[in-house]
Amino acid sequence: MDEASFFLPDENATERLGAALAACCPAGTVIHLHGDLGAGKSTLVRGFLRSLGYGGSVKSPTYTIVEPYQLHGQRYYHFDLYRLGDAEELEYMGIRDYFDGHAICLLEWPERGSGILPAPDLSLHLVYLDTARHACITPQGEHAEIIVSCINESFSMA
Ligand code: ADP
Ligand code: MG
Repeated sequence: MDEASFFLPDENATERLGAALAACCPAGTVIHLHGDLGAGKSTLVRGFLRSLGYGGSVKSPTYTIVEPYQLHGQRYYHFDLYRLGDAEELEYMGIRDYFDGHAICLLEWPERGSGILPAPDLSLHLVYLDTARHACITPQGEHAEIIVSCINESFSMA
C-alpha cells in the first residue's frame, strides 16, 4: 500500500484523524507531522491525546521542545522543534532516550532535527485546502502499512 489521504473539512475532522492514529499506533511508533504554521499539527495531537482520555490543554511545546504524557501506562512524547536552532541541540537533551521502542512519539517540525532524529514509522503531511485541510500519511517503518490500513478503517468508521 502507498500513502493514505484524508479530506479534513474542519477542526473536528483533524481531531478525529488524531483519534484514529491513537487507536492504531502500537507502543514505539514514531510519527512525523509536517505542515505549515496553522496547518493543524497540534490540533491532531490534541485529538490523539483526548481520545485516550487526556482532559487537559494541549499546546505546541514550542519553548520546551518536548511535553511528556503518561496515559494508561503508556508514555507519549509530543515534540515541537520549530524553535530549535541547530539539530545538534537534540544531542544535548539526550534525544535518543525518548525513542526507546516503547514510547509513542509525535513530532512537529521534524525537518529541524534531520540528521539526528531516527527515521519515523509514519510521516503525516497536512496542507491547506482553502479553509479546510488535506492530510496524507506515508507508511515508512516495518509495520507501518498495517497501521495505515487501521487508520483508514478507524477514520471512516468514526
Ligand atoms: P500547527 O500546530 O500546525 O501550527 P494548530 O493545530 O496549532 O496548527 O492550528 C491549526 C488551526 O487551524 C486552528 O486554528 C484550528 O482550529 C484550525 N484547523 C485545524 N484543522 C482544521 C481543518 N481541518 N479545517 C479548518 N481549520 C482547521
Ligand atoms: Mg503546533
